[in-house]
Amino acid sequence: MSLTLRSASRTDVGRHREGNEDSCFAGGHLFIVADGLGGHKGGEVASALAVETVRSLADLEAARAAADLASVVRAANQAVLDRARSDADLSGMGTTMTAVVIAGSTARLVHVGDSRCYLIRDGVIQQLTQDHTMVARMVRDGRLTPQEAEQHPQRSMLTRAVGSEPQIDLDEADIALAPGDRLLLCSDGLTNMLTDGEIAALARDGDDLDAICDALVDAANAHGGVDNITVVLVDISGTPDDDETPVATALQDDAVDDAVDDAATRGRAVPRRAIVWLALVLALTVGGAVGLRAWADTSWYVGHTGGDVAVFQGLPMDIPLLRLHRVVQQTEIALDDLPEYLQREIREGITADSLDDARRVIQLQILPKAIPS
Ligand code: MG
Repeated sequence: MSLTLRSASRTDVGRHREGNEDSCFAGGHLFIVADGLGGHKGGEVASALAVETVRSLADLEAARAAADLASVVRAANQAVLDRARSDADLSGMGTTMTAVVIAGSTARLVHVGDSRCYLIRDGVIQQLTQDHTMVARMVRDGRLTPQEAEQHPQRSMLTRAVGSEPQIDLDEADIALAPGDRLLLCSDGLTNMLTDGEIAALARDGDDLDAICDALVDAANAHGGVDNITVVLVDISGTPDDDETPVATALQDDAVDDAVDDAATRGRAVPRRAIVWLALVLALTVGGAVGLRAWADTSWYVGHTGGDVAVFQGLPMDIPLLRLHRVVQQTEIALDDLPEYLQREIREGITADSLDDARRVIQLQILPKAIPS
């Protein structure tokens, strides 16, 4: 299938910030949104440098650019780290990065942080990316409702960012596109001001992409405009080639549905603690203690021991006669030096997908909040 792409973008300082730390690019087969963070000029420099690095893909043929996307985002990560090391004023800067390359009828998506990519198909909006924030993690763990998350004062605290560490963990996906689809990439200055429903209503309205970008930014400003707002809109049109068989089209549609289903599943709130207990009962019944230990061996969380924050392997719970967790790394961050809400989270145990993930939570979310008493 040969698809035709049209795009538009707009970035706006919003109504409360002095500078714009967002950067974006839209051209040819490449689309990028980055939202910088860090003091002084750090955020601005980080997002601009990351976009500049990834933008080199615009000069490549689309299939090659898609194949190189993840490695170029890793190069951007290194570029931000190097710049931060060479300039003390920029220390600690970082940026989100949501980047798409469309090659043929496939959108290659690479994502870190809490900017988002949405697919609008048949008038229905689907979030294709997962927010890498502490609050999103708490929603997935069932410790916050999506409604509570929207109001949470720490909703922008990232668990992953470009420029935060040498080894960056990227989300990667391939989305099969169909004529009539629309992709929206945006920073959290849009999504913190508007619901998905409000975004969808504006984003599917008409064919003038510049006018839609303006309408989205204007609506976010009308709702408060508390942050910088960036939107990139991509319109996908085209017709199936004559020699293309209906079977091929059907397979492609299945791939889209799978991708959308997968994205929807990832975005849904899962009561992790309830699942933990349900699975615990099941494990005791079916596999007994052996199965439970095997499960504990592949689980990780951030908790506390001796008054200090620590990384644990295992499950954040106590069962008589069964050892379900052990400390694998103790820090010198005192629980008492952390804000109350964070102490509560740590006492319950912040679950992580891996040892590296647990360490990232400490480095990105806990360490910066510690105020030595
Ligand atoms: Mg922002």
